[in-house]
Amino acid sequence: MSAPNNGGYKALCPACGNRMRIRNSEAQTPTFKTMYAQCTNIACSATYTGSLTWDYALSPSGLDQPRVVLPIAPSLLRMKALQDSLPKTDQLDLLNALEA
Ligand SMILES: [Zn+2]
Repeated sequence: MSAPNNGGYKALCPACGNRMRIRNSEAQTPTFKTMYAQCTNIACSATYTGSLTWDYALSPSGLDQPRVVLPIAPSLLRMKALQDSLPKTDQLDLLNALEA
């Protein structure tokens, strides 16, 4: 979560698929955050609220006393996460765009 939005996670508008700007977020707990976002498509401009949760650890914290300890993800989930975290090629992005 420390990475800048640039090149990081892109929240897309449910209504039109354009990028949304996260306007505000409130951490309820270390693993649950309420988010407020607005669509950057001027014609749409929808606003939404939703939540971000951390469910599992893919690899545990290296700290002696982490604030929270989440269960380690099942191996199938870890494999999928590894695939999803790999940089996507332009070709895959195009395929995703066509599916949307
Ligand atoms: Zn929109």
